[in-house]
Amino acid sequence: MRIGRTIPPAASPIYFRDMLNGLNSIMQGKTETERFKKELQEYFGVKHCFLVSSGKAALTIILKSYHKLHPDRNEVLIPAFCCYSVPSAIISAGLKIKLCDVNPETLDFDYSQLKELIAQSSPVKSAALVSTKHLTGQEKLKAQGNPKSKLLAILPVHLFGLASDIEQIKKLLVDPAVAVVEDAAQVMGTEQKGQKLGTIGDVGFFSLGRSKSISTVEGGIILTNNDKIAQQIKLQLVDISAYSLLELMKLLFQAFILSIFQYPSFFWFPKSLPFLRVGDTIYDPEFKIRKLSRFQAGLAKNWKAKLFEFSKSRRNAASKWSSMLNSTGITYYSSGNSSLFNFIRYPIRLENGKTWEMALTHSEENGLGIQLTYPDSINGITELHTESEGKDFPAARKLAREILTLPVHPLLSKKDIAKIESYMKSLQN
Ligand SMILES: *Cc1c(COP(=O)(O)O)cnc(C)c1O
Repeated sequence: MRIGRTIPPAASPIYFRDMLNGLNSIMQGKTETERFKKELQEYFGVKHCFLVSSGKAALTIILKSYHKLHPDRNEVLIPAFCCYSVPSAIISAGLKIKLCDVNPETLDFDYSQLKELIAQSSPVKSAALVSTKHLTGQEKLKAQGNPKSKLLAILPVHLFGLASDIEQIKKLLVDPAVAVVEDAAQVMGTEQKGQKLGTIGDVGFFSLGRSKSISTVEGGIILTNNDKIAQQIKLQLVDISAYSLLELMKLLFQAFILSIFQYPSFFWFPKSLPFLRVGDTIYDPEFKIRKLSRFQAGLAKNWKAKLFEFSKSRRNAASKWSSMLNSTGITYYSSGNSSLFNFIRYPIRLENGKTWEMALTHSEENGLGIQLTYPDSINGITELHTESEGKDFPAARKLAREILTLPVHPLLSKKDIAKIESYMKSLQN
């Protein structure tokens, strides 16, 4: 166990004044929640916005709503390397998981495999769908896509700050009934070619979890311009309850703890308590789904300023890392567009397994905040049954043992950066 300055791998500070705003908001009725929603709608330029208790909750509600619109479809296609929250939410929604391998150069879908999977899921596409071209809009609506397909949605995941190529997915999709649900949990505020991530797919969602772009301890945001799905989501939300008083107390307590123990000077303490499972990636389809509380909306009162400030420090650290890694020969990721350096964790790839393990151990002992991402590809989760049973996803499996992330969060000091830099330079890839 380490006692002393320990850098968290990712962090999203909650300040004392956020706490005051949160407490204040509890007294103020619904105004803060409505204000937060309005500001999000305006900033992201979307018609509909819904606020819930987590990114997982947001995804579950989105998928259930789509399933209501297409009850004969139950498969959700996701990248085989992504956050374990994604399969947790799909199972929680009562749906099935279909996997596609990833491209190790981009951490996005392997698009040749995606193309095949889409083609397989629409066996009669050429006859049934291409011929709808001559139909009027009204008739097209009736056509409702391919009646034989089980595919309900494709879920591009923007990992760490890198953008998935949604335009390409849209081009590959010939079946209009398949939804593109954008997992923007890690990229709130990031843009791709002038479009805000989270608003490019049919529906998008963000997470307000403790290590995401900005945090309200936990929380989820759903965005869409599609009236039909928004209507369904609204119906789903009727049955979702508010936080109970006890849950609210717990939230208050967690916010207080986070406002202190995310700081590197104190982070060693929660990290040393194994029952807190700090940094663990857990597959768990049993989680609570609630409406976002007024307290959380209050915590988010300064969200735009915080997002701006945090993105600035994250971009600074990321550009530091890219120029440092340039001289070490270690593989790092950039999208070729500096505006995209909005990482919440900075991914690097160490192809040598020994070096990978050594770096992890060294970081653990010295509190450097260098961390592994997801312990295995999604098909490697033992409790999980997927529709891709028996198939292997070699790129995804390999990435789980090659990717590490460097911290970029606003709580990094100059000294921390220098310490990490000197260690990385000593690594031979
Ligand atoms: C964190 C995360 C989620 C889930 O968000 P929670 O708020 O933690 O439930 C989903 N997808 C990705 C890619 C994430 O990083």
